[in-house]
Amino acid sequence: MNEKVLIVGAGIIGCSLADEFTRRGASVTIIDAAEVGAATSAATFAWINSNNKKPLEYSNLNLLGLQAHERAASREGARWFHQTGNIQISQSEDELAALEQKVAEHVSQGYEAKLLTPSEIRQLEPSLVAPHLTGGALFPKEGWIDTATMCTSLLSRALEAGATFVPFESVTAINGTTVTTTTLDGDHHKYDADVVVMAAGNGTRKILAAVGTDFPTLEPSGMGTENGGSQAGVGIISTTGPVASGIRHIVRATGIAMRPARNGGITFADHPTGGKWDLDDPRLWNVPSELLERARSLYPALRNVATENVSIGIRVLPEDGLTISDWVYPDHSLYAVATHSGVTLSAHLAEAVAEEVLNGNRHPSLQPFGLSRFATV
Ligand SMILES: Cc1cc2nc3c(=O)[nH]c(=O)nc-3n(C[C@H](O)[C@H](O)[C@H](O)COP(=O)(O)OP(=O)(O)OC[C@H]3O[C@@H](n4cnc5c(N)ncnc54)[C@H](O)[C@@H]3O)c2cc1C
Repeated sequence: MNEKVLIVGAGIIGCSLADEFTRRGASVTIIDAAEVGAATSAATFAWINSNNKKPLEYSNLNLLGLQAHERAASREGARWFHQTGNIQISQSEDELAALEQKVAEHVSQGYEAKLLTPSEIRQLEPSLVAPHLTGGALFPKEGWIDTATMCTSLLSRALEAGATFVPFESVTAINGTTVTTTTLDGDHHKYDADVVVMAAGNGTRKILAAVGTDFPTLEPSGMGTENGGSQAGVGIISTTGPVASGIRHIVRATGIAMRPARNGGITFADHPTGGKWDLDDPRLWNVPSELLERARSLYPALRNVATENVSIGIRVLPEDGLTISDWVYPDHSLYAVATHSGVTLSAHLAEAVAEEVLNGNRHPSLQPFGLSRFATV
């Protein structure tokens, strides 16, 4: 098999696809308007989980994502995967009752979860000194991904296996399987392939609109859309400097999610998957300091540490908030992947999409995530 595959977008999805396609013998070119992993995949909480995901098909897809990361870690090291486990704490009797119910639901679906007593939490997270701690839950299989390392490692491996990477060229038109790009200098280049795979995140909608195809992802909010945006998916992620007695797990409490950061500090999100902000809302810029205060109330060791890095992430959101992974046109010239939870899903989607594009077999896990469920296409 030496099919010529052109992948648009070198985020976590595009890099995972490039690695999997080259591994299966395809001849791959990957084009990005910027650098590797520089868009949403650089501004993500990167929590790998199938925790509270609905509906069931999406929960199952995320579980396959988690398992694919685990397989990659045992097969080839995958040093970007940190399977720390996730501890959700409760600080009132009501929160504890809700957690008990949540654990029971997850266990009944075969998802690993167990309740923790306050003293078990203190053993697992010695630096956590949460007031009014009533208990918690451990989701041991969950973890986080160092997305920069994952993107660059997978892309490097694809390049070593013969792939070509074209950075700083923006795809501006697609005609059949010929893609036209515009360089930073305004020059135009053309690339031919047997099949084009769109993994351009929030760029896919714009590229396809230019060829008259309405692609059902939400416009990011505050991004200059005519109606002021849909309040879709702006999230803010902040990271402290290194902390000596840091955090060992993903730790979640009301209003905050925290995890170890690659610099030895702690990364925070107000809500890792559901926070919604308008980019024009000035209160957005208060979030990092509010989160640091909230974190200090749980980890007193953070008293002398400052926020070192803040990033704004724009979620890639299909209209129903789930995943799109499907052929765009019936002639199988153009395939598109666009998804929230893309960090969790990347390893599984790469395998399933490669199977579909190179061997023509619709992967059963992707059946519910086709384009036919949207009226617009
Ligand atoms: C605040 C926040 C928190 C999140 N938390 C989690 C989490 O905890 N767990 C989880 O699993 N997921 C999480 N996500 C979602 C996850 O980060 C995304 O689903 C994932 O990063 C999407 O990856 P992608 O490769 O599809 O898109 P991107 O990373 O955006 O990559 C798309 C690439 O396409 C390129 N591109 C765009 N337009 C063009 C063009 N015209 N020509 C060429 N190239 C182009 C861009 O430059 C970019 O490099 C979070 C997202 C946000 C914003």
